[in-house]
Amino acid sequence: MQLAPNSLQFFQLLLQNIVIGDGGEPVKLTLKLKSLKRLSWPDRLWGIAIMTLGLVVILNGRPQAMATNLEGQTWTGASFPVENFQAYTSPFGFRHSPTGGRGYEFHSGLDIAAPEGSYIRSWWGGTVVEVINDSGCGVGLVIESGDWEHIYCHLGGQVQTHLGRRTLIDRRGGIQVVEGQSVPSAARIARVGMSGRTTGPHLHWGLRYGDRWVDPALVLRAMHRDR
Ligand SMILES: [Zn+2]
Repeated sequence: MQLAPNSLQFFQLLLQNIVIGDGGEPVKLTLKLKSLKRLSWPDRLWGIAIMTLGLVVILNGRPQAMATNLEGQTWTGASFPVENFQAYTSPFGFRHSPTGGRGYEFHSGLDIAAPEGSYIRSWWGGTVVEVINDSGCGVGLVIESGDWEHIYCHLGGQVQTHLGRRTLIDRRGGIQVVEGQSVPSAARIARVGMSGRTTGPHLHWGLRYGDRWVDPALVLRAMHRDR
């Protein structure tokens, strides 16, 4: 069965509009539903079918592909990333915008609620490759551990730059983390704050393997299994 050229164009259009967020900041997924209207039936049906298929692949393909990888690894060296766990408040994947915007967005991590000031622990030993300070993630950290990157957002404290290297400073929490520093697994690296785009105190925790975001819930499950 061959796809009509219009449907293929539509699919390309759809792909162009799917952008994956970086550094914990979700990027909006805009579905060009208007372009559907320009198509005639049955191209419109093809468009809908391909769009659905595309979403299913994106929603399921990535985490499942990772799950296969996760099975073969041991996770005894990993630490749960936050103290005083309260609840998982937003899962990984596509969701409606929590701040009331239109359309869907890709949530590149797992939101873990904990009281403000709770300590955050490095999931794995590694090197602090970035101290973030932006409107989405707020104050944040990126730690590199081999092929993995772990991202922590909405932290407390301030970011200062000295000799081109950014430092997260949270004096009340006794925290000072500088870019380039190495941290052992389970080290207290920050505290839960309210910085960036957030409606309540929580840790936005993102995991990236190579250039792909991984569902942190899958990793937590694998960690639990290995305990
Ligand atoms: Zn989040």
